[in-house]
Amino acid sequence: MMDIRGRSRDELADWLASLGEPPYRARQLMRWIYRLGVVDPSAMTDLPRELRARLTGLVQRPDAVLQRLAAADGSVKLLLAYGDGVAVECVLLRHGYGYTACVSSQAGCAMGCAFCQSGQAGLIRDLTAAEMVGQVLALRQQAGGRPVNRIVVMGGGEPLANLDHSLRFLRLSTGSGGFGLSPRRVTLSTCGLVPGILALASQGPPVTLSVSLHAPTDPLRDQLVPINRRYPLAQLLAACRHYAQATGRRVTAEYVLAQGVNDRPEDARRLSSLTRGAIGHINLIPLNPIPGADFKRPRDEAVAAFARQLLDRGTAVTIRRPLGRDIGGACGQLRAAAGAVAEGTGRPAAEPGGKARKSPPGDG
Ligand code: SAH
Repeated sequence: MMDIRGRSRDELADWLASLGEPPYRARQLMRWIYRLGVVDPSAMTDLPRELRARLTGLVQRPDAVLQRLAAADGSVKLLLAYGDGVAVECVLLRHGYGYTACVSSQAGCAMGCAFCQSGQAGLIRDLTAAEMVGQVLALRQQAGGRPVNRIVVMGGGEPLANLDHSLRFLRLSTGSGGFGLSPRRVTLSTCGLVPGILALASQGPPVTLSVSLHAPTDPLRDQLVPINRRYPLAQLLAACRHYAQATGRRVTAEYVLAQGVNDRPEDARRLSSLTRGAIGHINLIPLNPIPGADFKRPRDEAVAAFARQLLDRGTAVTIRRPLGRDIGGACGQLRAAAGAVAEGTGRPAAEPGGKARKSPPGDG
C-alpha cells in the first residue's frame, strides 16, 4: 500500500511514472490532499475514472479517529489510531481568526522530562511525515470550514529526535504544493537537541523554533529536562543564537512553572539574564499536574508575579492560556480513557500555540 501523504511532488511523480502516468498527476494528487483534504482516490474527480479505480486499490486509507473531545471554545482533541495499534493525540486550538493544529511527532518519547506524561512509558515509535500530515487533515475536518492557519509540532514526542520525518513534515507544511503556510505560522518545539537545531537551521524551512527551557540553571535543568546533561544551557543558547542568525527568525522559549521548583524570584532574574540576546520571547506555561509525579501548578498570582519580574527586566513574556478546561485535564487522558495499549501524547492541557496576548499577563 502506498501512503500518498507525506511525499514530495517529485516522489509522487516518480511513483505515478512507475504506473505509466504523466508527472502532472502528482500536482493533482497534492491539490486533493493538501488543499481539499481528500486522500481517497475514488473521490478525486479530475482523475480519469479508470485511474481512480486503480489507485483506490493501491493507496492507504486515512487513519481512524478513536475518540474526539470538543471544548466549548471550539478546540477539539482527537485520538488517532494507526494500523499497528499505536495511538496518538492531536489538538485543534481555536484562535482569533482560525485554528492551530498541534501535532505529535512520536508515540511516547525517550526524553524523560520530569513533569511530562508522554515520556513516562518511554518511546513507542517515531511517527512518519505521512502520519503527521494525517493529523492535520483529521483536525482540519473538525474546523467547520474555518482555516487551519497555524501548525505547531508541540504534541507528544521530541520532533528533533525524529529529524527526517519532522523536516519532511515542515517542508510539506510550508511548501506551495503542501499546506502552503508561511514558515512564521509553523512552530517546532524541542527540549533542546542541539545537533537537531543546527540541522533544522541548515536544512529546514525557517519555521519558528521554540525551546523548552524550564530552568535557568544547569543543575535544575539537569533534573527537569535530562537531555540538558548532554547539551547544557550554554550550548543550547548558542544554538538558539545560531538559529536566529541563520534564519532571521526570533527564537522563543517555553517555561513550565512548577510550584516551589522553578518559580522563585531568583529564577525569574536568572532566566531573564540567561535568555538576553538569545531568546526573543518566553511563553510561561502553568504546570499541568500529571499522575505519578509530585509537581504542582503555582497559584495564578504566583504565575503573574513571575511574569511581572521578567517584564520588569525587559524580557518579553506571555502566559499560555489554558485550552478549554472542559476537555482538558492531564494529557494522554483520551488515550487512558480509551484503554489504548500504546502511548498517547504528553500535551499539557494548555494552548500549545502560545498565542501572544496583548494584555499584560496576570489572568493566566
Ligand atoms: N518535545 C518537545 C515538544 C513536546 S512537549 C519539547 O519538549 O518542546 C510541548 C511542551 O509541553 C513542552 O514545553 C513541554 O515541556 C510541555 N509540557 C510537558 N508536560 C507538561 C505538563 N505536565 N504541564 C505543562 N507543560 C508540559
